[in-house]
Amino acid sequence: NKAAKIMGISFPKFTMDQCLQILSDVAGRKKTELFHVVTGNPEIVMSCQHDDELRGIIDRAGLITADGIGIVMISRMRGGDLPERVTGCDLLIKLLETGDREKWSFYFLGADEPTSLKAAEVIARKHPNVSIAGRHHGFFKEEEEAKIVEEINAAAPDFLIVALGAPYAERWIHKYRNSLNAKIAIGVGGSLDTIAG
Ligand code: UDP
Repeated sequence: NKAAKIMGISFPKFTMDQCLQILSDVAGRKKTELFHVVTGNPEIVMSCQHDDELRGIIDRAGLITADGIGIVMISRMRGGDLPERVTGCDLLIKLLETGDREKWSFYFLGADEPTSLKAAEVIARKHPNVSIAGRHHGFFKEEEEAKIVEEINAAAPDFLIVALGAPYAERWIHKYRNSLNAKIAIGVGGSLDTIAG
């Protein structure tokens, strides 16, 4: 599995099913270090061009997926042929479906409070065996972050879903990667808005 390079960022050639398999494996293991999933969209790739710190964060991630048809098309023009797009929203929905069977737990960070609440209600209804370990809206001050991290850690979710928008989500996950008690953290953009409907 050679990666496709897009403006210096390596996108492994994984289908949605392969991404799900990788994350199922991580979720099924005992927690070691936080597994960071980046859903890589054109904005992230562009930001990396002039931001070495962000590039370092992306390079260190456990998995980077092609978030959108734009990335897949660029890869095809360059002969890198990524198999398909794996967007944050599609990935989250698939994880919730699998999580319903596997009884995974999720903590949802991000979106405004009504959206966060509504998304949690929709998820609880559609996926009754998913454990909603907690949730917090995404419009907090930096002084509140320690408390949020504490709350996440007390919940110890399998998945920390970070719906803060890119690249804020990626920076936030990176900032706390050594102090977060979750197996997997994923930046998913506006997915909670989509789920809330
Ligand atoms: N958001 C947030 N806190 C912020 C800024 C944004 O929680 O300080 C949320 C916003 O409510 C939305 C998501 O982050 O749910 C951003 O979605 P968008 O589609 O703009 O992100 P992208 O897909 O471009 O990463």
